Amino acid sequence: TDGRFTGKTVIVTGAGSGIGRATASRIAREGGRVIALDISEDRLKEFAAEHDGLDITVVRADVTADEDLAKVLDAAGEKIDALANVAGIMDNMTPVHEVTDEIWNRVFAVNVTGPMKLSRAVLPRMLAAGRGSIVNVASEAGLRGSAAGAAYTSSKHAIVGLTKNSAFMYAETGVRVNAVAPGAVMTNIEARFDSELGQDRVSTAMAVTPTPASADQLAASITFLLSDDGVNLNGVILPSDGGWSAA
Ligand code: NAD
Repeated sequence: TDGRFTGKTVIVTGAGSGIGRATASRIAREGGRVIALDISEDRLKEFAAEHDGLDITVVRADVTADEDLAKVLDAAGEKIDALANVAGIMDNMTPVHEVTDEIWNRVFAVNVTGPMKLSRAVLPRMLAAGRGSIVNVASEAGLRGSAAGAAYTSSKHAIVGLTKNSAFMYAETGVRVNAVAPGAVMTNIEARFDSELGQDRVSTAMAVTPTPASADQLAASITFLLSDDGVNLNGVILPSDGGWSAA
């Protein structure tokens, strides 16, 4: 077999649900060895059971916990070809005058600090190998100000910055770093509206969203950048949104 990921070890976060699950599934079906991590053990078990016979190692891990990330790196081993930072959480759509420290800190820990720490952990191995591919999952909220609350929007702009800086820094090393910015996707992600102002304002942007995409459609965009199909792409923030960002 010669799938796009044959012979490659790929770490996928958030592999228990939605976009991460569809991405991990596609990589495994295209020949990859997948290290699938998620904070939910039940979701991982379900995912593994659905993919019997494929090369999938599940690791229950919270991307905000250093000791969990160490377990992921152990499971992956010395040769790590690619990393997809997909795990993420929404905020409660609050504008900044209403945001709590709790929401702000948790959203940044999961959406920004986790991907940074995993990238920091895998990069020495990729740099030693002279090749590697990282894809971060941003959002429409990483492109403009109208798609979520203050915490989520800021976190997704931060992951865009991390992607571009890394792409620039490693441009001569054989390591590529890109991001996909999904529009609305049908998944299990939870979005609460805890703010009247937030609800009122964000609804105006939602009104021009195209039909929500499937997680498989996002997996197609992510694996495009993650695989050698993305060979000349570095520092790209790819909207995968059916044209929402063109509005
Ligand atoms: P989802 O909730 O269906 O899946 C996310 C998975 O990440 C879940 O299985 C969850 O258990 C896991 N997770 C959450 N916190 C974690 C942590 N601390 N450590 C490890 N795993 C954790 O959501 P999704 O919609 O598939 O979201 C995936 C990514 O796509 C996120 O980064 C999200 O911000 C982004 N995104 C989603 C949409 C959308 O409309 N669904 C739009 C734009 C961006």
